[in-house]
Amino acid sequence: MIKLQNIDKYVDSKFQRVFILKGIDLEVKQGEFVSIMGPSGSGKSTVLNIIGMLDKPNAGEYYFLDEPVHKFSERKTSELHKNHIGFVFQAYHLIDELTVYENIETPLLYRGVKGKERSSMVAEMLDRFSMVAKKDLFPEQLSGGQQQLVGIARAIVGEPKLLLADEPTGNLHSEQGKDIMELFKKLNEEGMTIIQVTHNEAYAEYGTRIVKLEDGMIVSDVQNKK
Ligand code: ADP
Ligand code: MG
Repeated sequence: MIKLQNIDKYVDSKFQRVFILKGIDLEVKQGEFVSIMGPSGSGKSTVLNIIGMLDKPNAGEYYFLDEPVHKFSERKTSELHKNHIGFVFQAYHLIDELTVYENIETPLLYRGVKGKERSSMVAEMLDRFSMVAKKDLFPEQLSGGQQQLVGIARAIVGEPKLLLADEPTGNLHSEQGKDIMELFKKLNEEGMTIIQVTHNEAYAEYGTRIVKLEDGMIVSDVQNKK
């Protein structure tokens, strides 16, 4: 499903080139559940953003479902993102002007899901995340944890082929975090490919594979036997 080949990401300052990612090779097959770990600043979010087509590498090739993403225009990558990828942002990125209901509905509108089907998909998410009573509130009226849950609901509502989640449990209580991991596990068993970034060893264990980054390079990549 995903093939990153020799991916570099860097920023140039006046005197030097600073590498954020250096020579990343990563293949992820349909149906995998990958946990990415690594110290703060090691490039985890950057990898996820590149896979999610929200950021572009400076060098290397990226194939998604056998399509050469590195050759595509922004318009084409945003089309691919919209149709296949759900993304949970580290900092939620909810739309302030929209209610909980409308935030969750957004990806379905982009994809042109029609009336009744759309409202029943959103209702199912509200129910699953115990947010029915909060559906007309705005993000600023919610706690950080609640905003994170809305972000997760928005990412999975359209049943994407690929779910990318950047520290999805960062602001949740351990009980809620565990619920989210159980949910991801179930979605993965139903066929969704998942790549999550996490700092939590126990949550990383939910993955079928654990990849570790350090200084913009992959230093370990192992199947997680259970
Ligand atoms: P992680 O998610 O593992 O904490 P990031 O991928 O967010 O790491 O960032 C990796 C490194 O790249 C950090 O040192 C960060 O400061 C740097 N970085 C990320 N994006 C940029 C950017 N646009 N310009 C300059 N430095 C950046
Ligand atoms: Mg990060």
